[in-house]
Amino acid sequence: MSVTRASYAIALGSNRPLSARLTPQALVIAAMAALDQLPLKLCATSPVIGSAPLGPSLRRYANAAAIVETDLSPPALLLRLKTLERTFGRRSGQRWGARTLDLDIILWSGGRWDQRGLHVPHEAFRQRAFVLSPLASITPLWRDPVTGLRIRHLLARTRQSKPVDRIGKPL
Ligand code: AMP
Repeated sequence: MSVTRASYAIALGSNRPLSARLTPQALVIAAMAALDQLPLKLCATSPVIGSAPLGPSLRRYANAAAIVETDLSPPALLLRLKTLERTFGRRSGQRWGARTLDLDIILWSGGRWDQRGLHVPHEAFRQRAFVLSPLASITPLWRDPVTGLRIRHLLARTRQSKPVDRIGKPL
């Protein structure tokens, strides 16, 4: 499917070094630079933040976010991101464990995409301060098409810890 020029918000994370030099923070910075090599325009990158591990892994994460513009459709962009993950040493099957690089599509200017296992907006991003916090530093006003809330509002909610349902709507 062809899609006209669109903006995407991408989340980057790493909690496993690839070498002594390529620490999680260095990997995230290198991955942001590598995004620029793909057929897309790198419009904004956030600072890299450190965050507590999610799931059973004990390693701390380095997280960041980027805004890109491209003609690629969501699945075509995901394919490119998966290739980039492998370039940075990610092996398939690493879900909760240590991972050298994790790239997720968080938002798409086209709104929602729910086909063949790809869900945009990303299903879990509304509860994840480590995604929302870097994202809010580069695009605080982008509205989540599902809840209608802006990124900065979603981030503020993670700090209030009120109960929300699966997609982040207040219970
Ligand atoms: P993970 O590497 O644990 O983030 O999971 C990656 C898989 O989740 C991908 O291969 C996709 O099939 C699926 N997925 C669903 N929605 C998204 C999304 N918005 N961004 C990235 N991966 C997604």
